[in-house]
Amino acid sequence: MFDATQPIHGGAAFRTHIDPFTFPEDSLDPDETYELIHTGLMLDGRETLNLASFVTTWMEPQAEKLIHDSLRKNHIDHEEYPAASLIEEACVHMLGHLFHAPDSAEVVGVATIGSSEAIMLGLLAHKRRWRDRRRDAGLPTDRPNVVFGAETHVVWDKFANYFDVEMRKIPMRPDRFVISADDVEQYVDENTIAVGVVLGTTHIGESDPIPEINERLRKIKADKGWDIPIHVDGASGGFIAPFAHPDFLFDFRLEQVASINASGHKYGLVYPGVGWLVMRDRSMLPEDLVFSVNYLGGAQPTYTFNFSRGSAMIQAQLYNFVRLGRRGYESIVANMLDNARHLNERLESSGWFEILNPGLAEPVVTFRLKGDPGFDVYHLSARLREHGWIVPAYSLPPNAEDVHLLRVVVRLDLSRQMIDILLRDIEDACTHLAAEKPGDRKSPTPDLWTAPALLAAHQKARTGQRRE
Ligand SMILES: *Cc1c(COP(=O)(O)O)cnc(C)c1O
Repeated sequence: MFDATQPIHGGAAFRTHIDPFTFPEDSLDPDETYELIHTGLMLDGRETLNLASFVTTWMEPQAEKLIHDSLRKNHIDHEEYPAASLIEEACVHMLGHLFHAPDSAEVVGVATIGSSEAIMLGLLAHKRRWRDRRRDAGLPTDRPNVVFGAETHVVWDKFANYFDVEMRKIPMRPDRFVISADDVEQYVDENTIAVGVVLGTTHIGESDPIPEINERLRKIKADKGWDIPIHVDGASGGFIAPFAHPDFLFDFRLEQVASINASGHKYGLVYPGVGWLVMRDRSMLPEDLVFSVNYLGGAQPTYTFNFSRGSAMIQAQLYNFVRLGRRGYESIVANMLDNARHLNERLESSGWFEILNPGLAEPVVTFRLKGDPGFDVYHLSARLREHGWIVPAYSLPPNAEDVHLLRVVVRLDLSRQMIDILLRDIEDACTHLAAEKPGDRKSPTPDLWTAPALLAAHQKARTGQRRE
């Protein structure tokens, strides 16, 4: 029985195994419960040192306060929370403006859980528009395809698979990690629902040549009459390019760009999970996909996969837009890029590495070992983990799978001071590994701290307890 005078660490809970295979029978004191779970979560990596992820790990205390204020709101309840849902609308139109829509009042869009949902919704709209157009013209509608490169995120494969669309994936090349306009021309036809291009690829952080691809599709439209829309995957780049490279044409300034997604929880600088889909104008979103509610006087379109969801991160997105403004985003992006450039240059001058994205369109540094120093990137990644740094090592997709690399995503909470310590740790690790000459690995580190490994440990502990 719970005893209020008992110190938490003297209670039974701290010497009892939490059995993940059995629903708990009894209640537990809330403080003890908090302490147990809170302490247990310390086994995770430290968020700021997780250089694998693009996802935001720091927000201002006022933003966190706002998030806390909104925790109880279900975002789908537009009628009950009209002010909260107007904030979503405002963010969509602000993004339409940021992405140079011809008329930012005319864009349609939606807050999603992340870019994955946004990409699927965008492509689904293009599939439906293609089908409607073909049907109206009396043409077959049974063989839609979608064209994108191997440099895309896994969600593009998922879309093709889940929504029965033929995937026309342009392979990577050993020496070039983005697609070209010539590639695109070879892969499209009258059944192409959309061409996917990436602004800031997951593997390397480069961008596809979006203006050239747009030009080619315009030419194809003029020559053959195929009006093929472009969907821009701006998951990471959508909040970098407008601030760092305002003259780079990737957005609605390009005629064929019909829709853009961006991850609010990446360089939108909000905690997970919020993403955005923005479509050029109403004509891009077939009405039969939109379930309209009219509580607000005007039609309030809802176009999402999820129904109930938290409202807090949408409010937090508006916080950032209003709090930072273009100037604030510009200064943060400039700092991140400057820190990434510093890391890039120091890694290069260390002599150990070759930089894979010297152009540095995004604050993402990808590098591989030069020659054969007697160890590989997987050894190095594991060694850095010992210092708390999480720097993933991986290989590129087929045709470039012999490229084994490391990637550091520079986020706003990684200071120059920390980067200099990271550089020192990398140099130390290289020097020691070169002397140790560990065996050939060329594959990811077997990780003791994966969820299946932890579950197996629980299973073992449980059978051990039973035997007692
Ligand atoms: C992260 C990422 C995605 C997926 O975005 P989520 O917001 O995590 O769903 C898609 N495309 C690219 C290029 C990405 O970097």
